[in-house]
Order: sequence, then C-alpha cells, then structure tokens
Amino acid sequence: MVGEIISVGTELLLGNIVNTNAAYLAEQCAALGVSCYYQTCVGDNEERLTETLKTAFKRSDVVILTGGLGPTQDDLTKEVVAKLMQLKLVEDSKAKEMLISYFEKRGIEITDNNWKQALVPEQSIVMYNDNGTAPGIIAEKGKKTAILLPGPPGEMKPMFEKYVVDYFKQRNPFVISSVTVKLCGIGESKVESEIKDLIDKQDNPTIATYAKTGEVHLRVTAKAENEKEALKLIRPVVKKLKTRFGEKVFTTEESVTLEQAFVDLLLANNLTVCTVESCTGGLVSARLINVPGVSEVYKFGHVTYSNKAKRKIVGVKKSTLEKYTAVSEQVALQMVKGAGVFSKADVAISVTGIAGPEGGTEDIPVGTVFIACDVKGNTRVEKFQFKGNRTKIRENAVAAALTLSRKCVLEYITQVSFGNKKDK
Ligand code: ATP
Repeated sequence: MVGEIISVGTELLLGNIVNTNAAYLAEQCAALGVSCYYQTCVGDNEERLTETLKTAFKRSDVVILTGGLGPTQDDLTKEVVAKLMQLKLVEDSKAKEMLISYFEKRGIEITDNNWKQALVPEQSIVMYNDNGTAPGIIAEKGKKTAILLPGPPGEMKPMFEKYVVDYFKQRNPFVISSVTVKLCGIGESKVESEIKDLIDKQDNPTIATYAKTGEVHLRVTAKAENEKEALKLIRPVVKKLKTRFGEKVFTTEESVTLEQAFVDLLLANNLTVCTVESCTGGLVSARLINVPGVSEVYKFGHVTYSNKAKRKIVGVKKSTLEKYTAVSEQVALQMVKGAGVFSKADVAISVTGIAGPEGGTEDIPVGTVFIACDVKGNTRVEKFQFKGNRTKIRENAVAAALTLSRKCVLEYITQVSFGNKKDK
C-alpha cells in the first residue's frame, strides 16, 4: 500500500514549529508496511491544500493529513478533503456529545464555531478524540483513503495508535517486522563495505544502515504473513551480521542503549566502575546514570576540568601537565590510575581533550581527545580525532569512552578466562 503524508499548518511553513508529526507518521507507516514516497507541508490555504491533496491522490492510495481540524476559520482540512472526495459533511452525534461534555467538564462555554468539529464526511470512520476536541476521520472513496488527524502530537499519536494501526493492519495482508543490530567502534562506511554482498542481494529481508553518534544501527526488516514468519526471515540475517561484526555488536534489542549494554556487562561480571572527565564535563557519567540500577556498579565520578582539579582529585603530576599538557596520553593515564586508586573501582575511565572552538594548536588541534581505561590494572589509552562543533566533539568522545571501556572489559574477561591477565 502506498501512503503519503501531508502536514497542514502555516506555522510549520514558517518554521515556528518543527514537523515532528511527519517524522512520527513516517516511522509508523514504515513499521506497518505502508510505503511512503512523499511528504508535503502546506499552509492553511484552501487552494493550495486542494492542489496538494489532488496530487497526493494521483500517486498514493492513502493520504494521511495532520493539522487544521480545529474550530477556527483557518482550520479547513476536513472541508477540503470532503469537497475533493465529494462527500457531504454530516453531524456525528457521538462527536457532538463528546464536544459538549469536554466543554462542560472544563466549565467553558461552547462557542458557535466549535460545532463544526462534530461534522464528519458521510460514511467515514470517526476516530474519537480522548485528548482534545477535534475528532479524527478515515474517509474512503473508491480506492482512495484520506486519514485526518489533529495537529497536536498529544492528540494525534494516541489516535493513530488506537485507530489507524488497526485500520492499516486490516487493509494490509502482511506484517512488517524488524530487528535492529546495533554496533559500536566501527564507522558507517566500513560497515557498509563489509556487508556490501548482503545489501546487494537483499530483497526480503532488507538491511538499512543508520549512522548514530559513535554507533551504527543495521535495521533488518522483513515482510511476511505474520510476525512469526517475518522473524524466521530475519533471524538468519541477524546471525550473519553478528558473525561478521563479532563483539562490535552490542545489542539486538531495540530498547537497549550502549550505556545499558556496558552496565549490563559490568553487572554480569561483578565489576564496578568510576569515571574522571575533563572535556566531557560529566557526560560519560550522565550516560551511565541513564541506566536504571547503575548504582550497583557505579562508584565514583569526577569532573576535573582544571589542571588543579586533575592534580588535587586524581593525583596527576604537575610535571606531567607541564611537560605534556592536559590533553595528552600521559595525563589521561594518570587520571585513570588516580581515579581507580581513589575509588577502588574495578574499571576506571578517563577523558581529556579539546572540544574547542578555541585552544587548538598545530600539534593538538581542536577535536583531539585521549581516553584511557583501566580494568583491574590492565590499562589502555587511545587518541581520537573528532570533527564538528563543541557539542559534537563531546558527544563523540562520550560514545568513544563507552565503546573503548566496553572493549577493554570484554578483553579482560576473555583473557582472565584463559588465565593470561592480571586479576588483582
Ligand atoms: P486544534 O484542535 O488544537 O485546533 P488542529 O488539528 O487544528 O488542532 P493545528 O491548529 O494545525 O491543529 O495545530 C495545533 C498545534 O498542534 C500547533 O500549534 C502545534 O503545536 C501542533 N502541531 C500541528 N501540526 C504539527 C506537526 N506537523 N508537528 C508537530 N506539531 C504540530
């Protein structure tokens, strides 16, 4: 089934509000097997909305519109749709009752223009609004369908979930299912080149790559008669991806984040962790604390932004700072050692770098970050060179710190089980 999204509202065109509805609807449609090839944004203007809708009906089976269902003069989505589909507007008694009760409950007097919200195109499916006054509508004429949803996301999303999902499931004889394989410690182009053969011959399931900060997500999507059949198609591909990328795969669960995967790893191996951060200013700590239950493993976190703090709190030597500067491998190592000694955590993570925009030199340009990780006396330090603005550099540094620490812990676990590493 081919779908199309039209977002109605002059505020959207002017950039006063961000079109989050379109993003939500596009994602939902993809998951429901409705292929959306076009999205349009149009102001509250009858002529232009009519034109947009005509064009949409020419190329799509289902047109989803959001916004313009309100009571005011400029809310004209329903009127335009009804006119174009040649459907009369008729009063819906339940919608009228709900409207009256909505206003009564709030002690507000109903104004004349509100009554138009109880009008719906004849023979349409009415989607009653539990969170506002405008009912949504599913109107069908011949092979074409218009789905009208209110603009406020707080009204639109629950309505979509309550009515539209079922509507699509009934019309679509198959389900679309997907599993996301999440990778860290590898770039998008490297990922793509390593699975080029799989991508080239993909059909059902398909593999789509999504680059995230410090992560790459591979979404494996299959179309089948039911969920079970879809998973049967997906599973072998996920297995292949896991074999190809090994430990770089940190989860195949949609809801699991990198920090969650790292914390789970620590929990499973009875390891505690501490952090000492300079340029990331506590962001590594904040990511870890995103995870419920992290208190079991998280012992200590410090932000040592100034040189003085680096010396006083984690014992970085003045001579090291003078000789190598704060953004150096040597300082990252002394930070991580100091943090580990102070907190007695099994795993220590340190980050020091230049997030810019000022302060870079030829030798240490903006974006240079040193990250060190110590797992029970087994220490590793790495230098990174990130691009982008201050925020981007810091976000990348956090992802790299989590990725490096996860790698060090995994290495440590493997080595200990083979009896080759220190286990102090
Ligand atoms: P109402 O019943 O509140 O009048 P409506 O269906 O007429 O709703 P609009 O008047 O077009 O919707 O928009 C109401 C509000 O909903 C906007 O001010 C905005 O906050 C939000 N909104 C509308 N469209 C979108 C969109 N595409 N993405 C995100 N928010 C939106």
